[in-house]
Amino acid sequence: MSSRIKERKDVPAEHRWNLDSLYTSEESWEEGLKELEALIPGISGFKGTLGESAERLKECLDYFNKVELLAERLGYYAMLRKEENVGDSSSIGRMSRYMSVATKSSAEASFMRPEIQSLSDQTIDSYMKDPVLAEFRISLERLIRYKPHILSEKEETLLAMQAESAGTPRKAFSALTNGDMSFGTISVDGEEKDLTNSTFGVFLQHKDREVREKAFKQFYKGFEGHKNTLSELLGGSVLQDIYKARVRNFPSAREASLFPDNVPTDVYDNLVASVSANLEPLHRYYALRKKVLGVDALHIYDTKAPLIGEVKVKHSYEEAVDLVLEAVKPLGEEYGNTLKEGLLGGWVDRYENKGKRSGAFSAGSYKGDPYILLNYKDDDIRDVFTLAHEGGHSMHSWYSVRNNPFQDYNYTIFEAEVASTFNEQLLSRLLMEKSESKEMTLYLLSRQIDDALATIYRQTMFAEYEHICHEKAEKGEALTVDSLRADYRVLLEKYFGPDVVIDEEADLEGLRIPHFYSAFYVYKYATGLSAAMALSERVLSGGDAEREDYMNFLKSGGSRFPLDSLKAAGVDMSRPDAVNSALKRFASLVDQLEKELS
Ligand SMILES: [Zn+2]
Repeated sequence: MSSRIKERKDVPAEHRWNLDSLYTSEESWEEGLKELEALIPGISGFKGTLGESAERLKECLDYFNKVELLAERLGYYAMLRKEENVGDSSSIGRMSRYMSVATKSSAEASFMRPEIQSLSDQTIDSYMKDPVLAEFRISLERLIRYKPHILSEKEETLLAMQAESAGTPRKAFSALTNGDMSFGTISVDGEEKDLTNSTFGVFLQHKDREVREKAFKQFYKGFEGHKNTLSELLGGSVLQDIYKARVRNFPSAREASLFPDNVPTDVYDNLVASVSANLEPLHRYYALRKKVLGVDALHIYDTKAPLIGEVKVKHSYEEAVDLVLEAVKPLGEEYGNTLKEGLLGGWVDRYENKGKRSGAFSAGSYKGDPYILLNYKDDDIRDVFTLAHEGGHSMHSWYSVRNNPFQDYNYTIFEAEVASTFNEQLLSRLLMEKSESKEMTLYLLSRQIDDALATIYRQTMFAEYEHICHEKAEKGEALTVDSLRADYRVLLEKYFGPDVVIDEEADLEGLRIPHFYSAFYVYKYATGLSAAMALSERVLSGGDAEREDYMNFLKSGGSRFPLDSLKAAGVDMSRPDAVNSALKRFASLVDQLEKELS
């Protein structure tokens, strides 16, 4: 591949995704959009009639599915065409025409949810028993379980009227930290580089300690200067969470947040308890860092410094596909063959081109192939992992589509990251086995350790903090700059342990995490990776039965609540075992790294 970045029009067809499974031409997409527009007015014909009979409700749901299926397909095509070249004006136009039709459609259908939820218990009972509605039973159950939390029409109107202003803390936080605040520049190798929210992490990984320290101090100085505003915003967001939970009859903000996934608070508490009981390997890892870096005191700005040199390996895209396929062999022939055809066929948009969105994603739709956007580079081993990860999402979609009706095929984030990180686990194991150099082994060990650290330990610390803040506010205690910082400092000391110096400004971190504005979400990262680690262990050490359990998890798609589908796959997240086994694996990785470095 030449090193010059190509224009989109010059990318050969075999390196691009083939979107024919959605639309074979732009013209056929336009026809589809007209078809969707023609279907929309028909939705309101069902308004006020859903209580008449099970047949009538089924007619409505069938009609709505037809609309949604078409809309999904149109939307994916428009989105994928836009992401392959974000500046392309015809793609921008297509996307905005789609958005305006989709908005009309959801406005037209907005009566459905509340109308179904307001049906009498008696009607609902008879509908649920009626074979006519059998294939909609799961999706109806999901709607109806909200019933105790739905208010009167008048109250719902009042809530809807303030929904936009209720988002002010989050919007103001984002405007402040991404726009108004500036952090200056950092001089690296004689060059002045901007310090921003997105470059901060890069500076912290710099091998030069002075660069790291300066970036750290300068970055938090910016937050220090806005600490009162930031704590008011975070406090306001917490109060909003509590308000929303109380008006909808939830015992706490946390229970309200866990309700959509039907996750009991025990799962959350077990996670925090298990992680808290297994901090020793984490602290040992920091002690090892201190030794390897040869510093008198390890500061937080040293905890991401590179421990080892870069690994120089090259894998062409095709070689990366071979590695991923070899890694997923334990999942059986159908999985492997399908993935092979997809990755070498038309699923993947492989390389960077001018105007293409950065990073990677997988986007599956019900009536088309599960597409993957990559910016694959053959000298970056991380991209091989990205391929394994996105391939995991794609195969999850592939199985879900084939085993569920449209209304039940979308799985939750809780489940999605299990299917993708599971494949990364398999790839790590394979590359460890194949490794022929010390630097590769060290890289793989570090990678797995840092991954589990960032996803399990760190997200659990965040989860613990969110819980503390909400509990305090629910008891009527004020969240002030000082109390927020003090609580955060206790957690930093707990998680970083005795070998890390917690500098004075370090506890301002609690005021700068965007995820805290979508409270009780990050725990899913920790449970997801724990489940993936436990499941990969189970499949690798098990036989056909264990593999089948995992395949059934992929096939269940969105037809069960996440804990139920994971339980069927072989991990019970309501018990501490999965998290404990993931942490045991973390400890053994630290053991191996200690040995390799000694
Ligand atoms: Zn993912």
